[in-house]
Amino acid sequence: MISDIPRVRFAPSPTGYLHVGGLRTALYNYLFAKNIKGKFILRIEDTDRNRYVQGAVENLISTLNWAGIDYDEGPEKGGEYGPYLQSERIDIYSQYADLLIKKKKAYYCFCSSERLTKLREEQQKQNKQSMYDKHCLGLTGEEINRNLSTGLPHVIRLNVEPGKVIKFNDHIREDVEFSSNVVDDQVLIKTDKYPTYHLANVVDDHLMKITHVIRGEEWLSSTPKHVILYEALEWEIPIFAHLPLLLNADRSKLSKRQGDVAVEDYKKKGYLKEALINFVALLGWTAGDDKEYYEIDELISSFSLDRVNKSGAIFDIEKLNWLNEEHLRKKSDIELLKMLRSELQDSKFSGQEYNDEYLINVIEVMRETVSFIKEIFEKGFYFFEEPTTYEEAGVKKRWNNQSAEILKQYKTKIELITSPTREDYENALKDTALQNNTGNGNVIHPLRLAVSGVTGGPGIFDILYIIGKEKTINRIKAIIEKLN
Ligand code: GLU
Repeated sequence: MISDIPRVRFAPSPTGYLHVGGLRTALYNYLFAKNIKGKFILRIEDTDRNRYVQGAVENLISTLNWAGIDYDEGPEKGGEYGPYLQSERIDIYSQYADLLIKKKKAYYCFCSSERLTKLREEQQKQNKQSMYDKHCLGLTGEEINRNLSTGLPHVIRLNVEPGKVIKFNDHIREDVEFSSNVVDDQVLIKTDKYPTYHLANVVDDHLMKITHVIRGEEWLSSTPKHVILYEALEWEIPIFAHLPLLLNADRSKLSKRQGDVAVEDYKKKGYLKEALINFVALLGWTAGDDKEYYEIDELISSFSLDRVNKSGAIFDIEKLNWLNEEHLRKKSDIELLKMLRSELQDSKFSGQEYNDEYLINVIEVMRETVSFIKEIFEKGFYFFEEPTTYEEAGVKKRWNNQSAEILKQYKTKIELITSPTREDYENALKDTALQNNTGNGNVIHPLRLAVSGVTGGPGIFDILYIIGKEKTINRIKAIIEKLN
């Protein structure tokens, strides 16, 4: 047994941002671990020095933190099996590469890049899969030692035995088989002495006692190499679970060209982490019923690898938007207040001061009408600034030669009340209509235009009450001046 308690890991290569596919992998590992009280490990696979991006690890960790995906062991936190950054484990990998050489499961390769390019070109010409031709496997011990002592650049390659069937069980795909004839003699240690993904990944999964390898389908074709390595090192093979691909609506592989792929972009657009997590959880998994709205605790209690699909999962942005609305509706006014305050700083109204009571009043009347909290500043702009124009169609339909006089009368009534309540605004309106022998609508619509500039929105008395007496009066004066 690898470990008594299930241990899983998310093992991203830091590319500078967290891809939504990466978020899904991290989430499934997290949910799996939480569901069965296992451990979730974060390991950074940063051995490709050409791809090194400054700040990428910090960025990745802060994105995971934002999403609420907390790990038990990993960088910044430590743990029994660290370090958790592969670049800090280089000596460990070379030890195992040496062991593989001793066992004749790996060998030194001194081929120049010119030779390898030529080989590849010839294979391409013959329509053959590009594979190393095991040239250096034939070197004698003497030749190898001579090359090594003269410092000839070299790599270490996996010695794949041809003619074998490599079998492994995948929790999602069941039995998977590959012929070893299509498995290349993979480079394990590069000329810069750094390991490749394959060696480092297997060594670390073993040393970190990983019981389940849950990762994207794009790694399925690497798994035979890993199985060969596990067998060569006589290590127990973990359970694999390859998650379905993420697809665009047209079933092509999810790509930047058709929309955002970085978690950060969704965060910037104002999506709630609860919505994004809920959405991503459903990309390839279902509890087996029609339920779509999930809080994180429900995801943890219902998640199981048994219900992960094989077929690709379509990234449906409409569904994400819907979930965002649903999660927004569930938030308390106080939570929304916190969010609105932070959005206020990034809005064109930053610098303006509003007390909590004012903003909560706005939230209460606007919350059901928006999908994103920042939409409050767009749809309910009139709570933050005076309208400078009036909706043209609204004016045409709702403003007549009586409107100015009616609003003047309404204004006079309001002026006489010290601190008007919602009822005061309403009673004044009814009185005005009665006095003019007209319907309430002939007061409401011009009044709405005056205070908001638009024809739709929350209840008119709510608007009036929130903006208050002074602004109500000023805005009535302004519309009369502008439209008459
Ligand atoms: N470093 C690989 C990645 O970037 C990890 C794949 C795996 O989980 O084995 O996704």
